[in-house]
Amino acid sequence: MKNTLLNRVAASTRKVTESITRLIKNSRLADKLPERLLRGNTPAYVAAGTCAVALSAAAFFATMDYELYIDGKAIGAVDKKSEVYQAIENIKKSVPKELGSDIKIGQKIELKGVHVADSKLLSASNLEKKIKSGIDLQVDAYGIKAQGKLVVALKSEAEAKKVLELLKQPYTKKQDNASSIKTDFLQKVEIEKLQADIGLVKTPQRAVEYIKTGGHELHTYTVQAGDTTWSISEKFKIGVSQIQDANPGTNIENLQIGQTISLSLPKPFISVKTTQDIAYEERIPFNVVYEDTSAMYKGDKKVKAEGEEGLKKVQAKQIMVDGVIASTTVINEDIVKAPKDNIIVQGIKERPKTLAFGAFITPTRGRFTSPFGRRWGRMHTGIDLAAPIGTPIVAADGGKVTFAGWKNGYGKIIIVNHENGYQTYYGHCSSFSVKAGDRVYRGQNIGSVGNTGRSTGPHLHFEVRKGGSPVNPKKYI
Ligand SMILES: [Zn+2]
Repeated sequence: MKNTLLNRVAASTRKVTESITRLIKNSRLADKLPERLLRGNTPAYVAAGTCAVALSAAAFFATMDYELYIDGKAIGAVDKKSEVYQAIENIKKSVPKELGSDIKIGQKIELKGVHVADSKLLSASNLEKKIKSGIDLQVDAYGIKAQGKLVVALKSEAEAKKVLELLKQPYTKKQDNASSIKTDFLQKVEIEKLQADIGLVKTPQRAVEYIKTGGHELHTYTVQAGDTTWSISEKFKIGVSQIQDANPGTNIENLQIGQTISLSLPKPFISVKTTQDIAYEERIPFNVVYEDTSAMYKGDKKVKAEGEEGLKKVQAKQIMVDGVIASTTVINEDIVKAPKDNIIVQGIKERPKTLAFGAFITPTRGRFTSPFGRRWGRMHTGIDLAAPIGTPIVAADGGKVTFAGWKNGYGKIIIVNHENGYQTYYGHCSSFSVKAGDRVYRGQNIGSVGNTGRSTGPHLHFEVRKGGSPVNPKKYI
């Protein structure tokens, strides 16, 4: 009984050993063929022996499966290793021919023996999808680096050089006023042979576009009065959805004035810098010089000499970045024509108080009762200011009293000549405190309000005459 049992165990162990040997053989055979497909990594063969410890029945070995790992991360299980090799072959075949046939995988791919239920095995199409999203296909390429950072890659060095030429091309023609132009890059730009992800490998034209517009830089924008999300999108040539993306959690449909938002604006990865030696003519503004004279009163001015602009020839170094002037440094200036000063003489002599300022003040405190102009079928040549008899009347500006007496209609009237083309009339007075020939200053008491002449009540009739003709005093006081 005991023997029989031992024999059975021995027989079973023999079977297990046979199965392991077969599996190792099969496995090695299977591994050898597609090994070249895998790059630089040690395919992980799981020693079948270690499995055997945990296994008790030979039948189980026949259903050995494989777990696929990409850079140490489990992706799923397959029935046969060849399924994985086939999927990788398919993925490689889908790479456009122009990128060449020497395609490598950037990740470490491993297969480890496992046992899973058939229902858990990946289908061929699912397997391909999962591998495709987990790996980077790489090709030999020439990368363009800016400040040490890889921007794009080209299939050949010639193409990479062409891209740099195409970037510079629009900025190689010197301005009409430039004697020389130097075109280079703002950043440190290098071409380097490398292994590049196929997504980075572009045609020269696409590479140029990408370098010019592919980068982004975050800017802060303060919402102005009248801004809408739409107008901001138009102004900066970016989509409304891009504005939303740059401002998560902000209701961009309801912007407030003064609110700050982020804008992700295109920025070239590589900028072209041009340095030009330019020459141009520039106007020189004239100075304004004041000269004092005691021959004129304070506040009076006269142009003695008109100013004239000068002209100079300027040589400068102009730096532009992507066609926009960044700086202009003047190197030399030759004056072709010197500017001429604008000379203005100004009076310093103390101005007598009795000289006109050229502006009138209201001659009495009173109620405005009648305007200048046509009234009751006849012309009213001044304005009327009603005030009690005896209310002081003052000179509206400095000048000389030319008349203080009786005139038909006006009654007692004072006339002041301001000696600047203007005269003022003060009618219906009750009394005078000046006489013809007196000089008066602005605000000086010259008489008092009355009801003399053609008057229906105590008031001042005030007239302003320009060149002898009455004008509307309201325009002057
Ligand atoms: Zn009047």
